[in-house]
Amino acid sequence: RWVFINGKYVKKEEASVSIFDHGFLYGDGVFEGIRVYEGNVFRLREHLERLYDSARSILLEIPYTIDELEEAVVDTVRKNELSNAYIRLIVSRGVGELSLDPAQCSDPQVIIIADQVTMFPQERYEKGLNIVTVPTRRNVPDALNPKIKSLNYLNNILVKIEANRAGVGEALMLNHDGYVAEGSGDNIFIVKRGVLFTPPGYVGALDGITRQAIIDLCNRLSYEVKQEPFTLHDVFTADECFLTGTAAEVIAVVDVDGRTIGEGKPGPITNHLLEEFRKLVTVDGTR
Ligand code: PLP
Repeated sequence: RWVFINGKYVKKEEASVSIFDHGFLYGDGVFEGIRVYEGNVFRLREHLERLYDSARSILLEIPYTIDELEEAVVDTVRKNELSNAYIRLIVSRGVGELSLDPAQCSDPQVIIIADQVTMFPQERYEKGLNIVTVPTRRNVPDALNPKIKSLNYLNNILVKIEANRAGVGEALMLNHDGYVAEGSGDNIFIVKRGVLFTPPGYVGALDGITRQAIIDLCNRLSYEVKQEPFTLHDVFTADECFLTGTAAEVIAVVDVDGRTIGEGKPGPITNHLLEEFRKLVTVDGTR
């Protein structure tokens, strides 16, 4: 395996960054998680656009053009001879003083790792997930807007810990107003009487690439989809519920806080969208 570090390929075992990198010291940086399906880097352009937006939002200048980085990602996949993979693209502020001030960091680090993908087991796609709601809240857009995919993922990690302690693998975060925001690393959809709902970004969620792919699919397949805030009441009384994310793809939720959602199994619209999504992933992207 080869890792791209600032334009050079380094063996996985030898790939390293400085302990003085502000990405390590302060979580000062941004990242993307991207999938490769049969050699197609799924919606690479969209991931890169989100990365550049995240970077711009924290005043971090990526030392490559978007076209150069696109080529670097495709090249890294090719060099590793992977046809199905997970890519982690990281841009950190780089080495600086033991001070918060990024003005000392003149050398942002750009890293591309292409590796095996870890997914939920097949059984979970067939039976659906049991999840819980947790005490950790999603911050509503403020200085650290949840739309920034930053290296500060402690909030999401706490959600994961709280989920694990409740004996499940994923959880839902509400925002401070009590609206459903998202999972620890996934967006949420519910289906009620044939209409799909997903929280708008301003509720406090990442603009998921998979979420957008599902919205696009809904439009193509003539499912009505609304971006509207909703509460736990709407989740508990939904006919179907599912999560979307680069790693999870589309996965049904059948139980939230011990309450059965719909029929307690993946619903027909969820299954249809998963099927269509899996057709899309090998063609919609960059080779
Ligand atoms: N929400 C958060 C907090 C995430 O980290 C992710 C993963 O990237 C998502 C949602 C899903 O977004 P995407 O579909 O782009 O992977």
